[in-house]
Amino acid sequence: MILDKCPNCPGKKFYIKHKNGEKLIREEAILAHCFSCMGGYVDGKEPCEIKECCLYPFSPFQRSKKIDK
Ligand code: SF4
Repeated sequence: MILDKCPNCPGKKFYIKHKNGEKLIREEAILAHCFSCMGGYVDGKEPCEIKECCLYPFSPFQRSKKIDK
């Protein structure tokens, strides 16, 4: 269960909020989605490497927020 890992990972509280049927603002939804997509960061707080994803520039742990062109 992804909620058992990484107690302070970004997006976790918003993921739980969503699962409880509460509304999220856009930034919370992005973080919640990346939290879910990354499997709750069970492998550690690593940046996403899927540059093709439209949420990539907003995903947590990016070393650089610049988008490669
Ligand atoms: S940016 Fe990465 S972690 Fe976030 S939704 Fe896209 S692929 Fe998943």
